[in-house]
Amino acid sequence: MSVKRVLITLAVVLGLMTSAPAVQAAQDILFGGASITGVYYQVALQISNLMNKHEGEDYNYVGRPTGGSVFNINAIERGAFDFGVAQSDRNYQAYYGEADWEGKSVKDLRSVFSMHPETVMLVTRKDTGIEKVEDIKGKRINIGNPGSGQRHNAQDVLRIYGIDQDKDIQAEGLQQHEASRALVDHKIDAFFYTVGNPSATVEEPATSVDIRMIHLNHANIKKMVADNPYYIMTKIPSGTYRGVDYDVETYAVTATVITNANVSEQVVYDMTKTVFEKLDDLKASHAAFRNLNPEEMLQGLSAPFHPGAEKYYKEKGWLK
Ligand code: GLU
Repeated sequence: MSVKRVLITLAVVLGLMTSAPAVQAAQDILFGGASITGVYYQVALQISNLMNKHEGEDYNYVGRPTGGSVFNINAIERGAFDFGVAQSDRNYQAYYGEADWEGKSVKDLRSVFSMHPETVMLVTRKDTGIEKVEDIKGKRINIGNPGSGQRHNAQDVLRIYGIDQDKDIQAEGLQQHEASRALVDHKIDAFFYTVGNPSATVEEPATSVDIRMIHLNHANIKKMVADNPYYIMTKIPSGTYRGVDYDVETYAVTATVITNANVSEQVVYDMTKTVFEKLDDLKASHAAFRNLNPEEMLQGLSAPFHPGAEKYYKEKGWLK
């Protein structure tokens, strides 16, 4: 063996002896939000920030903008995302095979916890003359992109007020950040949206143009709310948005964090634990999260808890 080969062999052996034990690469975790100016994207981003800050050796969380609740539920079913945010009503329908999931229930859907309440809203400019839902006839109205949670809420409201989406209005299916812009640019007359408050999607148009928010308080809305466990009647307090100096009567759902039964117990346990142990940081990260409290975060969920979340709640004594 030449001197050179001996030296190389020696170097390799020494290298092997002194090298650190193999480091496990951090696991990539994808978290689906919704429109970039909505609150879901903030849920995905802020929880990702918490995880990367406190559990960054084990995980690399990435928050993604998406089409919204329906998109997230379907992506989680396919295993394309580990976590996502979805409206409580969509969650229920997916798990029990109703509405968009008629005959194809998402049986692997699992709940992690609830987040903030989201109000169903109809936002217009004052100059459109729209003062009540019936006034949207003949106007250009964004009802939400396919994949969003709000689209079905808009369709419920239209049906309750006897408005035909195909004949009575020009229905648009824009993503919400496009819809907010289109309202300001007079390309649409109003948009439906279901979102936590305050949301940049309403704050932005409200600072550029004079907006009006329409009451959604028909007797049949109240009946629908009474008939379904995932809805409540509520008010958007006066002053939440510039120029809206009256309480807006409407109804609300809850934003929920969901996952798939096939995601590992450890992954869900670690995320759940970090969120509850760093809840003050999460609450401070966005105004829509400031009223989060652990007790309510275990309510309003339709799909069963994921075992990783359940393990943490049992350790805390919050679940039997
Ligand atoms: N509720 C909306 C949806 O399900 C998203 C709201 C948000 O982005 O905050 O699509």
